Amino acid sequence: MSTIIGHYIAGEIHVPQGGRTGPIFNPSTGEEIARCAYGDQATMDQAVQAATEAARKWSQTSHATRIAVMYKLRELMIAATDELAEVIGREHGKTIADAKGEIGRAIEGIEFATNEPHVTKGEFSVNVGGGIDVFSMRVPVGVVGCITPFNFPIMVPMVMMGMAIAVGNAIVWKPSEKVPGAAMILARLLKEAGLPEGVFNIVHGDKVVVDALLEHPGIAAVSFVGSTGVGEYVYQKGTANNKRVASFTGGKNHMVVMPDADLDAAAGAFVSAGFGSASQRCMAVSLLLPVGEQTAVKLRELVIEKIKALHVGPYNDPKADFGAVISAQSKAAVEKAIAEAIDAGAELVMDGRGIRIPGHDNGYYIGPTLFDHVTMDMTFYKEEIFGPARGIMRAATLDEAIAITNAHDYGNGSVIFTRDGKSAHRFMSEVEAGMIGVNVPVPLPVSYFNFGGLRRSKFGDGHLYGPDAARFYTKFKTVSQRWPDAAAAPAAVSLAFNPVSDKS
Ligand code: NAD
Repeated sequence: MSTIIGHYIAGEIHVPQGGRTGPIFNPSTGEEIARCAYGDQATMDQAVQAATEAARKWSQTSHATRIAVMYKLRELMIAATDELAEVIGREHGKTIADAKGEIGRAIEGIEFATNEPHVTKGEFSVNVGGGIDVFSMRVPVGVVGCITPFNFPIMVPMVMMGMAIAVGNAIVWKPSEKVPGAAMILARLLKEAGLPEGVFNIVHGDKVVVDALLEHPGIAAVSFVGSTGVGEYVYQKGTANNKRVASFTGGKNHMVVMPDADLDAAAGAFVSAGFGSASQRCMAVSLLLPVGEQTAVKLRELVIEKIKALHVGPYNDPKADFGAVISAQSKAAVEKAIAEAIDAGAELVMDGRGIRIPGHDNGYYIGPTLFDHVTMDMTFYKEEIFGPARGIMRAATLDEAIAITNAHDYGNGSVIFTRDGKSAHRFMSEVEAGMIGVNVPVPLPVSYFNFGGLRRSKFGDGHLYGPDAARFYTKFKTVSQRWPDAAAAPAAVSLAFNPVSDKS
C-alpha cells in the first residue's frame, strides 16, 4: 500500500482514514511513489480554526521573536538542502542542481523576511492640531490562504509565506498536490525553528480545497501562484468573498535580440532560459524575437548548435541539463501544441518528440523542440507552453518587436539583448511587462525587489515578494491621540466637524 501524505494542522500530521487521495508520480520513471490526502470543507474548517487561534498570539509577539524564527529557519533550510533537493527532484523531475537553485532562492526569501520590522514600520505625525498626534500602524491581516503551483515546490511557497509569517500572520497553505513532499519537510523545519503550533498549516488537495479556502470567512487574504485560468478564477472568487487577493499567473516571455547584440551570448541565454527546468518556469523565455533577417539567420544557427549539446535525463543524472515534464497529461499537452504548430505552418527545426532515455521508458520526457517562423496568429504564440518547445519569430525593427511583445495577453518578463543604451531604454519604457531584463535572460528580481507581472500575468495589485508583499500581508490602523493637561479647564462641548484644525 502506498504511503499517504497527510495534512498538517496545529503542529500535527493528520492522515485521514478513508476519504479522497490522489497519486504522486516520479516523472523521471512514471511510477506512482505515494498518494496525497485530499481535504474537504471539514479539513479547511479545522485548519482555519487552528490558524485563527494561533494568529491571535503570534501577532502579539515581538518583531525580535518572529525574526529569530526566520533566522533559525534559514539555518535549518541550508542544512536540509540535500534532503529537500532529492524530494523536489523525485516528485517534480527537475535536476538536483536546478532544485538546489530554487532552494537558494527560497532561502533568499527568508533572509528578506527578517527585514519585516523595517518594511512594516508605520507613520507618525506630531501635533496635527490641538495637541493631537496621529500615527498609522501596520498590523497583520490575520489568516492568509496560500495556493501554490507544482513548478517551484519550495521557492514560490517560501518567498510567499516567509514574509506573511514574519509580519505576524498565520497560514493555511494548499500546496500543489503533485509535489507535496517539500511542504512536509518545511512543516518540520518550521516546528524545529520554534514557530508556535497553528501558525503554519497545510491542507492538501484539489479544487475542492481551493474553493473551501476561498469561501472561508476566517481567511483574510489569499496569495495564489499558478496558471492564468485558475488564477483569474481565484482572484474573482476570493474578492467576491471580500478577501484581499494577489494572483500571479502564466507567462509568455519574449526575448528581443538587436543586430548589435553579442549574438553568441544571446543564443546561450535563450537556450538556458528557454529550456531550463524543461521550460516549466513562469519566467522561461518562450519566444526568440530577433530584429532583422540577418540577426535571425545567425541566431538560429547558434541556437541549434547549443541545443544539440543539451542532455535530457532523470533528475538524479548529474549530466542532465533538464528532466521530464511533470505528468503524462502535461507531456501529451506539449506534444499536442507541437502538432498544432506544425499544422499552422511553423517550421519545425528540431523535434524532441519520441526521445528515449535508456532505463526510463515510462518517464515523461520530451527533448528540446524548436520552431522557426512562428507568427502571432498561431496558438503556439498565444498560449503558454509548459514544456520544452520554443519558437523563433521575426521583427524588422525595434518598433515592431515592442509591438509584438505588447500584443500578447501576458506580461510577466520581457528581455532585450543589445549593446545600445537607447534601444534598451526604449524597451524598458515601452514594454508592458512587470519584470524586464536587459542582457539578463531571466529577470527574476532579488528578494528585496517587488516580484509580479502585468496584464494577464497578474490579478490584483499585490506583489509576490519584496517590500510590497509585506504591505499586502498587513493592514493599516490609524490612531489619533491627545493627552490633555489634567490641570486644564474642561473643554467646552463643540459640535464642529473639524475641532482639530487651527484654521478658522
Ligand atoms: P495550476 O493553475 O494548475 O495549479 C496551481 C494551484 O491551483 C495548485 O495548487 C492546484 O491544485 C490548484 N488548482 C488547479 N486547478 C484548479 C481549479 N480548477 N480550481 C481551483 N484550483 C485549482 O498551475 P500549475 O500547473 O501547478 O503551475 C504552472 C503554472 O503556474 C504556469 O502557468 C506558470 O506560468 C504558473 N506560475 C506562475 C508564476 C508567477 O509568478 N507568475 C510562478 C510559477 C508558476
